[in-house]
Amino acid sequence: MGKRANPMRIKAVLVYTPEEAAKALGKSTATIRNWIKDGLPVMSSRKPMLISGLALRKYIQEKNKAAKQPLEPDELTCLCCRAGRKPEGMRVSMVPLTTKTSLLRGTCARCGATATRIIATRDIPKFAETFHLTKSAKSAA
Ligand SMILES: [Zn+2]
Repeated sequence: MGKRANPMRIKAVLVYTPEEAAKALGKSTATIRNWIKDGLPVMSSRKPMLISGLALRKYIQEKNKAAKQPLEPDELTCLCCRAGRKPEGMRVSMVPLTTKTSLLRGTCARCGATATRIIATRDIPKFAETFHLTKSAKSAA
């Protein structure tokens, strides 16, 4: 259940133990240890492990940026997987949001949760080639 960590909860001038970092971010210590394995730099390999606030902040910002990577043309963002997923049966309903944007909504083929994508209305013909688009009169809310 990975809610994004908020890098602004970390003070760049401070130094954190994994426990302190976990507490500041509302994450588990295991998550912080996974980040260290994943490349979050620590200041010393000796115990206690210390993480510079600046490095931690940068790491989270990079991680969040990577999570926002553009979708493939045939993917929606699954709200549960928090990743690009193909919709079940490539079936997608379309709800106009504004004159310029529309919301595509489908069912994640992997987990069954709702998957969505906001597209430019002018791109609808392009997406209609990929998905089985149905117009929905229902509001996007
Ligand atoms: Zn999913």
